[in-house]
Amino acid sequence: MSEYLVKESALAGFFAALANGRRLLAPQAQGDDCRLEVVAGPVSLDYANTRLSPKSVFFPQTEKILAFHKLADKPRPNQYQDLGDHAEPTVIFGIRPCDARGLSVSNKVFQNDRFTDPYWKGKYDKTLKIGLACPDPFPQCFCASMGGSPFGEVGLDALAYPKDKGLGLKALTPAGEELIKAAQAEAADLAAEIKSLTAKAIAAQGALPDYRVIDDSQIMELYKADHWATTAEPCLGCGVCTFFCPTCHCFDIQDEANEIGGVRMRNWDTCMSELFTRHGSGHNPRPSKTERIRQRFMHKLKYIPIKQDGVRGCTGCGRCVVMCPANIDIRTVAATMAQASA
Ligand code: SF4
Ligand code: SF4
Repeated sequence: MSEYLVKESALAGFFAALANGRRLLAPQAQGDDCRLEVVAGPVSLDYANTRLSPKSVFFPQTEKILAFHKLADKPRPNQYQDLGDHAEPTVIFGIRPCDARGLSVSNKVFQNDRFTDPYWKGKYDKTLKIGLACPDPFPQCFCASMGGSPFGEVGLDALAYPKDKGLGLKALTPAGEELIKAAQAEAADLAAEIKSLTAKAIAAQGALPDYRVIDDSQIMELYKADHWATTAEPCLGCGVCTFFCPTCHCFDIQDEANEIGGVRMRNWDTCMSELFTRHGSGHNPRPSKTERIRQRFMHKLKYIPIKQDGVRGCTGCGRCVVMCPANIDIRTVAATMAQASA
């Protein structure tokens, strides 16, 4: 795949071409918040990261998946309408590499050789993803210690980076290359510059603990380690860490109905809630926050890597580190797990 250049004077035309016939989503600052919004005009390249990860584009916080209506002469709902396939062709510009990798982790959960989730698939497959690399990583970022890179390419159709008030671009898929060419970007040889910026950005994240020992340790050794109660002690069970995480994907299904019909909703859920695993009988296999915290970190750092060939369920985006009201830091927990299994 090739590299391209968009000069500052050509940026407006470039973004207009991305939006041509498609919905263009890009990060927009709103006070001290930043979120993915539909844009038509110029896109700012100067933002830290969106507060919410882009997973909500494909897996909304709440989503109607089915509507049902009662027929007058029937006692139960008996007309159904699938609301799932309403995806429109979309381009997202400005996904950070950690988030694109997070989306690819969830994509393997929602689309694999045993199961396809039509609500995720419709949106994911109709969306072209252009990343924005991080030449100057933010203080909370640790993607490199989780197997990623500030210039990571996984899950993206193209990767952009700020260059002389314009953009450098690397096409990563045929669809990404076609899109960039159609937007009149100039061909350029940027491979050496990208390599050097990548090395600089990884070095800027500093030396982080080596968590690979977790990959090699036995599940039961980690599961039975005696630090879990202490690790869980400050947790409030608020679920903020899971809602902001680009790889968390648990949901609940609820019917909301009245006498003439209703809708079936899919809503984000969280393993940090006591209700998440409580059975109808009242039994709960994860009755205390110790079991729930252990589940969260074992899932991210051990179970997902086993299921996905070593790919971790944490991409080092740092959101949970910043947002947790109890200051529970996954880097500290990973280091404790590594120590417990060394
Ligand atoms: S666990 Fe925390 S740092 Fe890791 S990807 Fe999720 S939100 Fe980001
Ligand atoms: S954000 Fe912190 S306090 Fe809230 S559930 Fe997650 S670990 Fe617990």
